Amino acid sequence: MSALQDGVETTYMGDPFTPISWKLNPKGLFSSKHFLYCDHMSNSGPSAFSEVNEKVAQAGEILGLKPGVISALSSCEREVVISIPLRRGDDVEVLTGYRVQHSSARGPRKGGIRFHQDVDLDEVRALASLMTWKTALIDVPFGGAKGGVAVDASKLTPIEKEEIIRRWTRSLVHVLGHHRDIPAPDMGTDAKTMAWLMDEFHRLEGFQPACVTGKPVELFGAPGREEATGRGVAQIAAATLEKNDVKVKDATVAIQGFGNVGRYAALVCQELGMKVIAISDVSGGIVDTKGIDIASIFNVKSLADVQADERIGAAEVLEVKCDILIPAALGNVINESNMDKINAAFIIEGANQPLSIAADRELRVQGVVIVPDILANSGGVMGSYFEWTQNIQEFSWPIEKFRNELDARMEKAFGNVHNVSKQYSVDLRTAAFIVSVERVALAFEMRGSLV
Ligand code: NAD
Repeated sequence: MSALQDGVETTYMGDPFTPISWKLNPKGLFSSKHFLYCDHMSNSGPSAFSEVNEKVAQAGEILGLKPGVISALSSCEREVVISIPLRRGDDVEVLTGYRVQHSSARGPRKGGIRFHQDVDLDEVRALASLMTWKTALIDVPFGGAKGGVAVDASKLTPIEKEEIIRRWTRSLVHVLGHHRDIPAPDMGTDAKTMAWLMDEFHRLEGFQPACVTGKPVELFGAPGREEATGRGVAQIAAATLEKNDVKVKDATVAIQGFGNVGRYAALVCQELGMKVIAISDVSGGIVDTKGIDIASIFNVKSLADVQADERIGAAEVLEVKCDILIPAALGNVINESNMDKINAAFIIEGANQPLSIAADRELRVQGVVIVPDILANSGGVMGSYFEWTQNIQEFSWPIEKFRNELDARMEKAFGNVHNVSKQYSVDLRTAAFIVSVERVALAFEMRGSLV
């Protein structure tokens, strides 16, 4: 069924829990082709979605899953592409928005919304799929989804941002809801954006604060959610050092990204006794081998405003010699062009898909320990799960309870992945996919043979 709402064509089909492999390509034509269909394939190397599916297939083969099941787990249940006419001066600019629902096998779909100029269908599919594996890995009752709008968030006024998220919500309201699909912030969106989303959703569907997570604390948000991803990244960094018999105290850390994830990861690394010696954002980076006092610069808007003796380029931070490297900005930043220059013993993936498959392979051969995104940055969706349950129960946790639960569950997930990597003699990424693919496949099969 195709429905015209509010001047925007959307796809919508029945019960949101019914897996449907419909595809709407950007030209508005339905395609029944399998998941390999992709109009937005990146020009450089394999597509982001095919890279995720390579790991899914590998885990499926190790687990002895049937090829058809692997194929089902590699497809997205529903993809919706919308147009968003945005008033700009006395004219209109038409943006493209997306929501991809990858899987509902283990519960309502969950995943962020990204505002970034490079957003395309392939990227959103890859990120939606990663959400399925992430939520399964940390054992929360969600599936996976992702959304986005192809727009440079840094060039939007607050009113334009609000207009875009309200239009996105109106166009997608049929597939959203606290038991269907629950968005959250991602690059270029924040708690304020989620407040506008919730408000628009309430106008259309009535009171349902659990329809979105990552909201402001003053508006049904959970104290602790904002810091949860970065906190989880830092906790995983400390656990990785300990497992490898390296002292946490004074371990050196370099971080790319000083947004939600990078900022809190840096702060908590410092609180845990590590030394953040380099950090960058889109404006460039700063280095101090004695350790940057993150607490004192935590609230700066841009690192360009920070006094520093040594400045480097935004990407150069990845090449700084350190114990722990945390890419916490964009995807595919460590690839064939710079993998030989990486100078870290451990990489903790704060961002989603920061390493290309080739870089991942090469760095592992060199002995670098890589903690994959679906484990390292899963603190965010864990925190979203806590916010969602609190909204549904209409009961608020103190921040200490939030932090204790988060730390304990992250430690458990890390220990589990570590044990599976030993059991199968595989790297941590493969182990993480083995755990999550097994859980999703089991749920998929237990739902019955007639889909
Ligand atoms: P954000 O928009 O808050 O911050 C992004 C940061 O990256 C900013 O500091 C920006 O200046 C910097 N940046 C952008 N382009 C850069 C470049 N070319 N070089 C260096 N720095 C650059 O985004 P975020 O929420 O912190 O998300 C960062 C990454 O973490 C994304 O990959 C996102 O998918 C992932 N992630 C986020 C969450 C979350 O809860 N926010 C959860 C899981 C994963």
